[in-house]
Amino acid sequence: MPLFDLAAFVLGLLFGSFLNVCIARLPQHESVVTPRSRCPVCRHPLRWYDNIPVLSWLLLRGRCRDCRTRISLQYPLTELGFALWFVLTAHRLAPLLHASGSVPLPVDTILAAAVRSVAFAVLGFLLLGLLVMDWQTQQLPDSFTFGGIAAAFFLICCQAILLGPTDEQIRLSNHHIHLSSPGNVVEHGNLFLTGPEALIGGRLVAATAAFLLLVGVRSLYKLVRGRQGMGLGDAKLLALIAAFLGFSPALLALFVGVVAGAVYAVVLLASHRADGHSRIPLGSFLAAGGLLAALYGQEILEWYRRLL
Ligand SMILES: [Zn+2]
Repeated sequence: MPLFDLAAFVLGLLFGSFLNVCIARLPQHESVVTPRSRCPVCRHPLRWYDNIPVLSWLLLRGRCRDCRTRISLQYPLTELGFALWFVLTAHRLAPLLHASGSVPLPVDTILAAAVRSVAFAVLGFLLLGLLVMDWQTQQLPDSFTFGGIAAAFFLICCQAILLGPTDEQIRLSNHHIHLSSPGNVVEHGNLFLTGPEALIGGRLVAATAAFLLLVGVRSLYKLVRGRQGMGLGDAKLLALIAAFLGFSPALLALFVGVVAGAVYAVVLLASHRADGHSRIPLGSFLAAGGLLAALYGQEILEWYRRLL
């Protein structure tokens, strides 16, 4: 559906434009609502036609209309990046739209898929923003990390409400097992958490474990090297990924992020552009790992399990 993709792309560009505002202002602790966007050099407010995602940058050939200062390529790239992510989000909804033509799907199936797609889009927005912010300012603002974790739990609770009767539940074959409440199964002192409890509780444990894992690594590093090597922001970022995706995908994101960061560090050291004290934006690499885990996490983890 080219029209569906085009609509998603344009909407994604607009959200990407707002993401640029967040990236420019949140690390400076400025409001993302007011004042209107202005040139960071000459402070001239942007005219509406100079504020059109990607297009304005191309028409202005990457320079401010008033003072001719260069406008970073980061702006159109962020807009394009999120537009692509939004097209991918739309693709996740497309099978539902096709299916609804022949046999009507139950409303809660459609709603559940919609909530999952919103979560996918929100995660992409947050991770892309954190990736750029850590790269440019070495900051991972709490409004994105903690705010994102709060958004994740809101969306997980929405998902839990919409869980189907067969989703993530233990099939009961033994009539001795007593169902105390929907999704909560008790049998002679054995408690199985299933359904909504498993989903919400599981993510709560996943996010906490991911946070503590990096806090532990951080303390160990400080103990060995005698200086701080990692910000707490990285731990909050990994907790954010775990809250949205679960613990295994968060571990995958950590692995990808650390390996990519190490490769980047080796390249910098080899080309004498950094020394032992240079800072590597680990948060950017973690965020990139999180984006990969959101896109292909299931497939990669599945492949890894078969390998074992
Ligand atoms: Zn200017």
